[in-house]
Amino acid sequence: MTQDTAEQSALPLTVLAEDETILRDSIREFANAQVRPLVREMDEHAKFPRTLIDKLFDLGVMGIEIPEAYGGSGGRFFHSVLAVEELSRVDPSVGVLVDVQNTLVINALLRWGNDDVKQRYLPKLASATVGAYALSEAGSGSDAFALTTRAREDGDAFVLSGRKLWITNGNEADLFIVFATVNPDAGYRGITAFLVERGFAGFTVGKKEDKLGIRASSTCELILEDCRVPRANVLGEIGKGYKVAIETLNEGRIGIGAQMVGLAKGALQHAIAYTKERKQFGKSIGEFQAVQHQLARAAVDVEAATLSVYNAARLREAGRPFLTEAAICKILSSEVAERVASLAVNLFGGNGFVKEYPVEKLYRDAKIGQIYEGTSNLQLQTIAKQLLS
Ligand SMILES: Cc1cc2nc3c(=O)[nH]c(=O)nc-3n(C[C@H](O)[C@H](O)[C@H](O)COP(=O)(O)OP(=O)(O)OC[C@H]3O[C@@H](n4cnc5c(N)ncnc54)[C@H](O)[C@@H]3O)c2cc1C
Repeated sequence: MTQDTAEQSALPLTVLAEDETILRDSIREFANAQVRPLVREMDEHAKFPRTLIDKLFDLGVMGIEIPEAYGGSGGRFFHSVLAVEELSRVDPSVGVLVDVQNTLVINALLRWGNDDVKQRYLPKLASATVGAYALSEAGSGSDAFALTTRAREDGDAFVLSGRKLWITNGNEADLFIVFATVNPDAGYRGITAFLVERGFAGFTVGKKEDKLGIRASSTCELILEDCRVPRANVLGEIGKGYKVAIETLNEGRIGIGAQMVGLAKGALQHAIAYTKERKQFGKSIGEFQAVQHQLARAAVDVEAATLSVYNAARLREAGRPFLTEAAICKILSSEVAERVASLAVNLFGGNGFVKEYPVEKLYRDAKIGQIYEGTSNLQLQTIAKQLLS
């Protein structure tokens, strides 16, 4: 551990180091200036403009942990967490685009990629290429390792056949980490991670889902029909894809925690501003003690969720065990996001129910936190396993 990290870990959880403060402030400014004006349109059209994605690359948030030698920002995991939180305050769809790119795709390449893979793909991911992470299938969600996408060895390549479902960034991505089995009889020990480029023959992006929330974030089916993937594009070892999946998702979960904390903070901020302005019975509704207590409860929730996300992130960064804390932070922050967004809708009254105001969208967006990267039941299972071990 470097001196710097040792000093940082001695700081209170919510006190940010100077580099963290600079990063957070610059992303906050970007989110307010560049993302906020587009939120409603992106939600309605269920699409990101490519110009926004290009600006995210220019800002450096699409390659946070990629070393500078590969053209990345040379940052740390906690920087990724802060970036996802800040973007999600304004739009959790943008938050998850950046989250998948950093905490799943780049994370997996940094950890499991050999020099050749890193040299071929990291500069692209840092500059223009969006990544996606394809594990789920129609028959394998929570039971992810029941996947059936098949990879058959053929000379210096593998031939992939199958379908993936629910793949975030499917519409925008040019690089996909696809999990397939080289040997269905071997169970999870057959699972292998492959790097599939959009242009590979036999690979197509299928149907895009029409969703309740995070609508601008694309969620797509992927179709692999005898898709030939060079052996050099195996990520990690053959038959060790389950480790790639488990370990990246354990970390990715903290990113989803950050997305949900950002969402909750955004909703609370809107609620505070509105209750100061809206007048009923001759005074602003924020002057009623009942409303004040509701806002205070929301602040308690947000503080607890923030602490749990920052704690899990700092533990991960310090190289300490964080599995249970990551599960706790995801379940807590996703429940808090739903509660706080719901309160914001209530406090906006009728205006909370219409699209002209920002909180109904946050309420819809909050729901996904309890579903993807392991449902809440699966998080509870992880926590209970540790309690009873
Ligand atoms: C918007 C969106 C984006 C997504 N992005 C991606 C992505 O980028 N990449 C990817 O690979 N996947 C992605 N997913 C898939 C997501 O991770 C799965 O939907 C999720 O893991 C749940 O799987 P499932 O939908 O099959 O539900 P199921 O596994 O069928 O679960 C249904 C219900 O049963 C419960 N359940 C299941 N098993 C148990 C158990 N053992 N004990 C108790 N309860 C249980 C669950 O908690 C849930 O409530 C995304 C999904 C959505 C909706």
